[in-house]
Amino acid sequence: MIIDQILDTPIEFLKGVGPQKGKLLRSELAIETYGDLLQHFPHRYIDNKAVLNISDLNPSMDYVQLKGIIMHVREEGNGFKKRLVADLHDASGSLELVWFQGGKWVQKQLEPNKAYTIFGKISYFNSKPTITHPDISLVVEQNGFVAPLIPLYPSTEKLKAKGLNNKNFGKLTQALFEKLKETDIKETLHPNIRQQFKLSGAYYAYKNIHFPTDNNSIQHALRRLKWEELFYTQLKIAKLKVKNAQQQSFHFHNVGAYFNTFYKDHMPFELTNAQKRVIKEIREDTKSGKQLNRLVQGDVGSGKTMVAFLSMLIAVDNGFQTCMMAPTEILAQQHYAGIQALAQTIGIKVAVLTGSVKVKEKRQILSALLDGTIQIIIGTHALIEDTVVFKNLGLAVIDEQHRFGVGQRAKLWKKNVLPPHVLVMTATPIPRTLAMTAYGELDTSVIDELPPGRKPIQTIHRNESFRPQVMQFIKAEIAKGRQIYIVYPLIEESEKLAYESLMAGFEQVKMWFPTDKYNIAMVHGKQAPDEKERNMQRFISGHAHIMVATTVIEVGVNVPNASVMVIESAEKFGLSQLHQLRGRVGRGSEKSYCILLTSNEISKEARQRVAIMVKTNDGFLIAEEDLRLRGPGDIYGTKQSGALQFKIADIVQDVDIIEETKMAAQNILEHDPLLTQPEHISLRYAIEKKSIQAHTPWNKIS
Ligand code: ADP
Ligand code: MG
Repeated sequence: MIIDQILDTPIEFLKGVGPQKGKLLRSELAIETYGDLLQHFPHRYIDNKAVLNISDLNPSMDYVQLKGIIMHVREEGNGFKKRLVADLHDASGSLELVWFQGGKWVQKQLEPNKAYTIFGKISYFNSKPTITHPDISLVVEQNGFVAPLIPLYPSTEKLKAKGLNNKNFGKLTQALFEKLKETDIKETLHPNIRQQFKLSGAYYAYKNIHFPTDNNSIQHALRRLKWEELFYTQLKIAKLKVKNAQQQSFHFHNVGAYFNTFYKDHMPFELTNAQKRVIKEIREDTKSGKQLNRLVQGDVGSGKTMVAFLSMLIAVDNGFQTCMMAPTEILAQQHYAGIQALAQTIGIKVAVLTGSVKVKEKRQILSALLDGTIQIIIGTHALIEDTVVFKNLGLAVIDEQHRFGVGQRAKLWKKNVLPPHVLVMTATPIPRTLAMTAYGELDTSVIDELPPGRKPIQTIHRNESFRPQVMQFIKAEIAKGRQIYIVYPLIEESEKLAYESLMAGFEQVKMWFPTDKYNIAMVHGKQAPDEKERNMQRFISGHAHIMVATTVIEVGVNVPNASVMVIESAEKFGLSQLHQLRGRVGRGSEKSYCILLTSNEISKEARQRVAIMVKTNDGFLIAEEDLRLRGPGDIYGTKQSGALQFKIADIVQDVDIIEETKMAAQNILEHDPLLTQPEHISLRYAIEKKSIQAHTPWNKIS
């Protein structure tokens, strides 16, 4: 094997690794080479001097460093719960150390009556502190240099079992740096950029992120490395945007009879100014001959569907077919019902295609798509299958909660001789930094206005002890002629559990609201479509007073007379879901309420979510808070897409750097859109190389 750069050396050749650990490093952390290890960054540091007294520990602390003598090593429990336990004593007191795995090995290592440094996360059992699986090392008399800050690295259970715990990982990076010369780490940022943005050199940054001399050096290293990572991301996005902007697509020459007739004679309401503005933006794009690549953001209930529908009409007016793709079957069906009702007023043929469509019907749909009889098709991912062939697809609308994968997008683009126009609508607003990164290659339109006459919804938090009062309140609202939603959480891990909790809830509702006096409808995921439909209709028609449901009603349902949304076990919902659910009420002329029912004891995070919901109705603000509380990983399935998997940057904390790098990337591309100038060749090489890099499997990290 010829390795022309030392950083490309396979990881098992490093001192202290070998074939066994090498294999694990690859499979667990995608660390294949010296270079990958170099980019496996510490996630925190401990101050070598910061040794606490056991008596000073308290429940608000997490990772701590202690020094003491380990005594009374013994096995406790049996079978499943067998564990090794030892007491750590210092001058101030003692605590228990616990190992559930690898106890034998630890026992062999421990030397009696010697002082140890202990590092780990404290937890409390019966108000006594313990540390499970601590890092332990003999206190050695140090003479000369002592590293002031010890790096801790992300590791996994399997690696820890092989001795590579958060702390020991540093031995590998140490071995690595013993092999590296300063020139082995290539500088990838142009001196001009480094000077302009005050960024340290590459070698300094890597050296100091792994072996900092002080806090200041960590900050410099962090800034440089985050900057570099975000810069390449933004450059890639900006380059894609340049490419998109040049992409040819179909000319929609005129706004024709379908649009005009519908607009004049069948519009159920006057468009808001925001809706008009966004439609104009879409119109401008579609008549330019270039491809429309636009993200439409708007709060729940801002009227994105009508914007999509009117855009579709322009496509149909110009002889093209259009499709609308939704993330779930239920959502696709709801869009179908809504759009079908609008389209039939002007004689446009609409169909729906999902995974559950029967073979025979599917065959008919496919042939009607091919011969052009179907003008609008609504569906799920079933729409991008290879068997779906259009006569002339001109516009694809994507109503999404999850970011589309690159491969899926490519399939959509291939559905016609030129790629169709693409309109992406988000279900809920997305925070700005997220939009800039995950959707940065798209143009953006924002519907920043709700249809007139919407009354702000009052949101109230009540815990279980107040259930009787809440039920009393609902009775009073029903007596006034209003309708009520009661929603139960979807338990993702277990459909069965979700179903059981819904059924238990349904029984409870019937106890409060006897069925001889109250009419109760119920909708959930296990029902057959016609049963679901029947129940929906009972509620929509005003016949049913109460709709008991799982989150299937989260999207799209429109019953203006419903004025109360009760969310059961609200602590189990995420912020954007709560906001979506709340958006089901407040659509009529009456004052509306959203009641968040929680158990009496809820976690700190749940309490924060609830407080935000009570405080504001603003979906954009809620999206920002959601990102702050949860991090980007969970939002909109972005984790799967990889769009936001950063090694060191943080989309929440690094807003300033995101802005800077975006600007820097745009600047460069403005002067050299294809990155062909000599000083940009390395940039081009870097972003092409970066796109094929393996991603860190965050789910295994502990
Ligand atoms: P979302 O943006 O959440 O997808 P929808 O498109 O479902 O919102 O619209 C929410 C409700 O508001 C629908 O019942 C729709 O008919 C209604 N609507 C949309 N635009 C207007 C408007 N300009 N005036 C009045 N009602 C509107
Ligand atoms: Mg919608």
